[in-house]
Amino acid sequence: VKRIAVLTSGGDAPGMNAVIRAVVRKGIHHGFEVFGVQRGYEGVIQGDFHLMTDHSVGGIIQHGGTVLKTARSEAFKTEEGFAAALQQLKAHYIDYLVVIGGDGSMAGAAKLTEAGIATIVVPGTIDNDMAGTEYTIGFDTALNTVLEAVNKIRDTAASHERVAIVEVMGRSAGHIALMAGLACGAEAILLPEEPLDIGTVCERLIKSHSRGKLYSIILVAEGVAKGFDIAGEISAKTKFETHVTVLGYIQRGGNPTATDNIIASRMGAAAVDNILQDNVNQLIAWQQGQIVALPYDAAVKTKHGIDLSIYELAGILAR
Ligand code: ATP
Repeated sequence: VKRIAVLTSGGDAPGMNAVIRAVVRKGIHHGFEVFGVQRGYEGVIQGDFHLMTDHSVGGIIQHGGTVLKTARSEAFKTEEGFAAALQQLKAHYIDYLVVIGGDGSMAGAAKLTEAGIATIVVPGTIDNDMAGTEYTIGFDTALNTVLEAVNKIRDTAASHERVAIVEVMGRSAGHIALMAGLACGAEAILLPEEPLDIGTVCERLIKSHSRGKLYSIILVAEGVAKGFDIAGEISAKTKFETHVTVLGYIQRGGNPTATDNIIASRMGAAAVDNILQDNVNQLIAWQQGQIVALPYDAAVKTKHGIDLSIYELAGILAR
């Protein structure tokens, strides 16, 4: 019987559990033995493999986080740690390793491939900042969390006539800020991909204020600036009262949305389908509404930047 091991790595994201469930159950369906690895590459090094059953992934699809735990393993990046990981994979007779994570996790999987281990990567990170794929599992849930939070903050901003500055996650990319900004009708969206011009933002605030708009929502991507610094500059330039909310880990947790669980289930199943065809060393990617498999070297060359036309649209609609 061939063996699949599955792990989650990097930051946790809602929907990861649905991927684990799909890999385990579809794997068993096709006659594989499926092992779960605890705490990402750290667990590989430590030989923390557990045989999974249909039952062991029951009742997890509705939860955020990852039941396999996740880690950022510094040891895996060292020569000794990597050698230990290889040795453990061989000792446990693992034929295929499914890695659920972001760019860093894919780099780790690609290194394992070079060392002769067949791997498949499923994209999981709330930031949607991964090369090769237009969608990463967890993004939709994070967007909905931001939207819900902004709707609540808006009530207070409107009542007190304040400029509400909301700092959102996204690491060095602005995907969350941009799409949440469009969804919540933010007056301004500050992104690392676009030159920051606080003067223009202030002019826009003053103009809309003079037309009778008494409060505003500004989304700031963590990759461009700190919300508090932006608030300081805006209140110095406009004399408007500002209020800052840093959403932080609120955005990482929570029950996955239908979209995330559907894509997660389909991508987890696609990982097993590719294994069945021995089409390994591939990123399971979302491209133009389809789930495809892309070799790692092609994936890393396909940068996934923000859609500037959406940025322009958000600007036009925020009047
Ligand atoms: P997220 O986008 O959620 O942060 P990520 O997968 O990009 O997810 P990282 O912390 O960058 O998160 O990577 C996860 C783990 O993958 C690292 O802790 C490390 O063990 C491994 N890894 C990252 N980069 C490399 C690399 N260049 N070579 C080998 N292993 C790597």
